[in-house]
Formats: sequence, structure tokens, C-alpha cells
Amino acid sequence: MPWKGEKDPYKIWLSEIILQQTRVEQGLSYYQRFIATYPTIADLAQAKDEDVFKLWEGLGYYNRCKNLLHTARIIYYELDGKFPNNYDTIVALKGIGPYTAAAIASFAFNLPYAVVDGNVFRVLSRLFAIDTPIDSTEGKQQFALLAQEVLDKKNAALFNQAIMDFGATVCKPTNPQCNSCHLKEICTGFNNALVNRLPVKEKVLLKKNRWFYYFILQHEETVLVEKRTSRDIWENLYEFYLLETTEQIIWKEATLQEWLNQQFGIERATIHSVSPLQKQQLTHQSIKGQFIKVNLTSIPQNLLKAQWQPLKDLQQLAFPKFINQYLEL
Ligand code: SF4
Repeated sequence: MPWKGEKDPYKIWLSEIILQQTRVEQGLSYYQRFIATYPTIADLAQAKDEDVFKLWEGLGYYNRCKNLLHTARIIYYELDGKFPNNYDTIVALKGIGPYTAAAIASFAFNLPYAVVDGNVFRVLSRLFAIDTPIDSTEGKQQFALLAQEVLDKKNAALFNQAIMDFGATVCKPTNPQCNSCHLKEICTGFNNALVNRLPVKEKVLLKKNRWFYYFILQHEETVLVEKRTSRDIWENLYEFYLLETTEQIIWKEATLQEWLNQQFGIERATIHSVSPLQKQQLTHQSIKGQFIKVNLTSIPQNLLKAQWQPLKDLQQLAFPKFINQYLEL
């Protein structure tokens, strides 16, 4: 991305404002056109309103554009054309919230402010095994404090970029590369096999289409089971090891082996079977998924504390219908 490693506060600000509520692929061409047309804050400040709005066309949320122009003119006409170089002045500018202010302060001026984007929420929640919902007021505060605490204050720009990149490439949403991650020894989420439960989002529970992939991990005559404890469907019922996603995954032998290796450090497992697609329609949600039966020769280190239920006692547990349907088959 052209704004990566950027030190010019104007360009960082522009990229942040364009990317609010906009996908990166879409925002990229707008950013490039803005920079080509208005290379400096002075050019933007002196531009005609209608020209700027024309360039913004298609991005929506026109308030962002209005604030952009307003702030450019404040900086150009009232602040000597110089972008403020301290957090408090930056965050006081119209249209700049704490996130954007932290990004400008740290990337442009290397000031010690942590930038907490989705990647950072995910990395921190897994590393410290924090299950406070990241989209709750409490969660936002908790993670902002933690991010500030772990920030390398002398290298804020580098640190912020590094943790974001780490989240985007290693600690990824659905297939984190735990087994090859250099933080796995100290990662509480990994060491307690909680990675796929984190981060927790309140709003996920409102999602209409959910994909449930159940891993039936069998070791000798026992199978891993877990009790659903969160305030969600099927509360207090039992299930197998769950990987929930928002999109379908097409599993192949190689992707399964890779996933099991990264999540549990299993070198080679025997994939016994992958069930056909199963569906259940609930009042407000559609659940789709598959059951993947895996035979293990030993219990992975990070699953030692899990509940391994003797197969013969499986019927004693209460499972949701979705699972019972499969078990009956
Ligand atoms: Fe993320 Fe896994 Fe590394 Fe923990 S071990 S930081 S969950 S990639």
C-alpha cells in the first residue's frame, strides 16, 4: 500500500480518512487520485469545494470529505500550513478521532501512541487470552490500555506497523500460523487452544449466516468435547472442537493437515472422514457446516487440559440438534 511507511502527515491523514468505512481495494484508487491532484495540504486547502467533492464521488459519507476540506483550510490558513505535531492538537481537528490521531502522531512523528485496528485487537486478545468483546465499550477501553502498555514507546511507528502486519500475515483471522509463530511460547491463547475463540465480538451473535466446522478429535477411546458457555445459541450444550467462520471453507487433505499443524502442532493426523454439508435453520440464523473426524496418536500439548470424553459415555452429554443429526447418521 502506498501509504505504508509514509511519513508525511498529510498523506497519512488522507489515507486514513479515505479508508474509514471503505475497503482498501476501493480506497486505493481514490487515494492515488487525491495525491496526484492535490499533492500537498496547501493544494487541497485552496481547491474549489465542487472539485474536491467531484473527486470524492462514489466514496459516500460526504461528511468525511467536508471535514477533510475544513481541516485542510484550518491547517493552511490558521496553522501556517504546518500539520500539528502533537496528539492533542491533532485529535482536536475536525473529523479526526483518536484512532486517526494516533496513526498520524505515531507514523508521522514517532510519538508514543498505539494504533488499535482490527489486527491489533486480534493479536492482543489471542496473545493475552482476553475474551472481553472487542466491539463493547469495555473491550475498546481494555484493549486501548493494553496496546498502549505493550507499545515500544521509542519506536512507536515501527511497532504499530509491525503489530498490524503481524496480524495481517501471521495471526490471521481464520488460519493463524501458530505453529510457526515466534510468539507461540508466550501466547496464552495458543497454549490453551483458545485461538479460534478469540477475539470475541458481540455483534457476531447477530450474524445471519454462520459456518460451523466441528473437529471430532479422537484419541484412543476418547473424544474432545467442550461446553458452550457464552451467551449464544446452544448455551450449556456440548459440542466438539469448533472453528466458526463467516464464510465457507473448502477443506482438502492438505489444508486440513496444515490447519491441524498450525493450531495444535500436530505433525500428521489421520483424517478419518469429512461429512457432507449440514444445515440447520434457526429463527434468525442459518447454520451450515461440516464434521471432520480426526484420529490422533497423541494429545497435543495445548489440548491436554481439554475435556476428553470416553466414547462410550458420549450419550450422557446434551448436544444441540445440529450435532445430534450428525451423530445419528
Ligand atoms: Fe497469534 Fe497464534 Fe502467534 Fe498466538 S501463536 S500470536 S494466536 S499466531
